Amino acid sequence: RAKASGRDSCAVFDEAMREDAMRILDLEGDLRRAINGDGFIAYYQPIVRLSDRAVIGHEALLRWRHERRGLLLPGEFIGLGEDSGLIEEVDWLIYAQVIERIAQGGEDDGYISVNVSPRHFRAADFADRLLRMLEAAGADPRRLRLEITEVALLDDVPRALRMLRVLRGHGVLAQLDDFGTGFSALSYLHRFPIECLKIDQSFVAGLVGDTRPESVAVVRAIQALAGTLGIHTIGEGIETEAQRAVLRELGCVLGQGYLFGRPAPEMVPILPRVGVR
Ligand code: C2E
Ligand code: MG
Ligand code: MG
Ligand code: MG
Repeated sequence: RAKASGRDSCAVFDEAMREDAMRILDLEGDLRRAINGDGFIAYYQPIVRLSDRAVIGHEALLRWRHERRGLLLPGEFIGLGEDSGLIEEVDWLIYAQVIERIAQGGEDDGYISVNVSPRHFRAADFADRLLRMLEAAGADPRRLRLEITEVALLDDVPRALRMLRVLRGHGVLAQLDDFGTGFSALSYLHRFPIECLKIDQSFVAGLVGDTRPESVAVVRAIQALAGTLGIHTIGEGIETEAQRAVLRELGCVLGQGYLFGRPAPEMVPILPRVGVR
């Protein structure tokens, strides 16, 4: 509508901008209200062994049950949450839900990984608060994992190192999310107590079709790096059998994607389901 021509186009443009601003303000107000209600919930997506689809754990993914707009994905509001700082509070709500689930379950349920906004790495008490929450709930720290991005690590390397070491000392392992998309901090990587690299879904998507050679080269490099560091990888966003097959050929053992299960409110039982299709 801002494109409307004629004398009023300027006024129309202003009006459209005003509406945009109002929508954002509106959403921010909604966000604040939802934090005090029960609008935010964790969905769970299985992480599987590629060879036999046995579920080894889940990733908790944030969803917002918005009163009027229905179920919202992180992409629709997380930027806003980061700008306003509200995402940290939303994350703590998700961590509390996940830790409660862990406390209710048992050994056989595998682990649950949670996404950590880079902002948490600037808070001195993040590790303490998380460990206190685990202890208060009586949850096994080894069943919680953190998904962090390279950006979060590089913001303040000494602090990130300290934080991850403290957490690992208590059994909470960390994995690097969206690996390959940041300016991979190869010189630092070996210093961080990282348990696994999650191969970004853009490379997995690229494994079939025109972009195959480049994507294969990237995944191969990530596998070699992981091998050198003595850690494993998880292929993200696997949608087809073809992608799964190429990943396996390249040495990736674990994966996650719609091919195995979409994010859902309930977890998939962790019983080894060897030979399923
Ligand atoms: P991520 O951590 O890399 O999560 C993987 C994303 O890929 C999820 O999107 C998941 O639903 C999607 N996905 C899984 N399998 C497939 C597939 O086969 N195909 C395709 N096309 N997509 C697949 P989602 O749930 O929309 O989350 C987007 C991002 O939002 C996450 O990326 C993560 O960075 C962030 N996020 C999610 N939950 C939280 C949270 O609790 N806290 C924070 N701070 N960030 C979160
Ligand atoms: Mg993640
Ligand atoms: Mg990812
Ligand atoms: Mg991502």
